[in-house]
Amino acid sequence: MKYIILCCMIILGGFVFFQYGLNSDTAFSSTSQSPDELPSPLMVCGDTETDDPEFSQSLMPPPHEPIENIHAGTIRPGDTASRILSPWLSSAQIHGIALATKEVFDLRKIRAGRDYRVITTDNSFARLEYSIDNSHFLAVDLDEEGFHASVHSMAYDIYPATVHGVIETTLSDAMKSSEDITLAIRLNNLFGWEIDFSRDLRKGDTFSVLVERRYHNDEFQGYGNIIAAKIINRGRVHDAYRFEYEDGHADFFNSQGQNIKRFFLKSPVPFGRITSGFTLSRYHPILKEYRPHYGVDYAAPTGTPIYAAGSGTVIQATQNAGSGRFVRIRHGNGYETAYLHMSRFARGMRAGKKVDQGEVIGYIGQSGLATGPHVCFRMTHNGTPVDPTKVDSPRAKELPEDRKQDFAALVANLQPQLTIHYAQADAGDPGPQAENKSPM
Ligand SMILES: [Zn+2]
Repeated sequence: MKYIILCCMIILGGFVFFQYGLNSDTAFSSTSQSPDELPSPLMVCGDTETDDPEFSQSLMPPPHEPIENIHAGTIRPGDTASRILSPWLSSAQIHGIALATKEVFDLRKIRAGRDYRVITTDNSFARLEYSIDNSHFLAVDLDEEGFHASVHSMAYDIYPATVHGVIETTLSDAMKSSEDITLAIRLNNLFGWEIDFSRDLRKGDTFSVLVERRYHNDEFQGYGNIIAAKIINRGRVHDAYRFEYEDGHADFFNSQGQNIKRFFLKSPVPFGRITSGFTLSRYHPILKEYRPHYGVDYAAPTGTPIYAAGSGTVIQATQNAGSGRFVRIRHGNGYETAYLHMSRFARGMRAGKKVDQGEVIGYIGQSGLATGPHVCFRMTHNGTPVDPTKVDSPRAKELPEDRKQDFAALVANLQPQLTIHYAQADAGDPGPQAENKSPM
């Protein structure tokens, strides 16, 4: 009888704690059990008695099974480790956990939007898990000796899937119903050398991408490698196949075996909109006179990242009255590019700094003479202004001669998986379609 009362009290205690926890702290967006799923105390007590007759015969108070609870949540802006842990740990203990963790992870660096779990046994802290990024998590355990911290890499289940669809407006719009926006950005980066996504796409263009989807505990954790992709833009096929070298590095080549990387990206702002092109005479909206426009204006919201169109060395990161904040980069082969009207520079931007193609160099703004947030993107070749949208820049390195056969076999194998199902598209279902393939 004593045992039955004890058992009921534990269950009831857990229930009260659960309710209290939920009401007092909304940071915990979910817990391991909802009230509806909690077994009724009477049933549990009865079950224990019949399941284990030895317990009821014993004179010793039976040991109870510790009750484990999982308090899962997402870090909110302004959250600190201390605030998250305070329901279970004293400030001295929180200090202890920070010290124990210091070697592997700085707890002050927890970020809004990341997930965490606090696991308790009998309402006492037992373990903290914090997802550092999409492939690592921090675990801190408490035992008799104190806190033990470690960083683990997540093991993923990888499923390649073909995602395809028809463009109505933009690539990101076409994908947003079923895919993460990062896939649109990845495709943009992949084809950024040959398609200017802000102005080349047309309604009816199609895309198809074979991509690795990563899962951990059946939860989608983002994309792995793009294996192959195809965009049909105004009837022209652009395709790319990932090809790995012996050293593990990989490049993308089109089905003709040409490297799809070029010397310059087509646009320094992936989803910007061209508001003014390169012309030898245009009416200036502020100066109110006709003058040449030696650049291409891409409009985008203030703060949108601006990418270096090609690798090179920064020769200026400064400002003046007309151009506002601007960065000028010297590339090889006599080319220079400049990016005007930035709201701010990327960290560390200064003359002499080496930048890679696609590296963020600054952010869209309207500093200097500008009527709205945009970047004026300029290019010169041996000192003469050239239209960056018309430059046919050279391709990156070729496929090694002795690997050409391997590559042809890879293309033959992957090409059918990129076949776009026009029947489905024509049936009035232009949204992206994903077809899961068997695990790799
Ligand atoms: Zn301009």
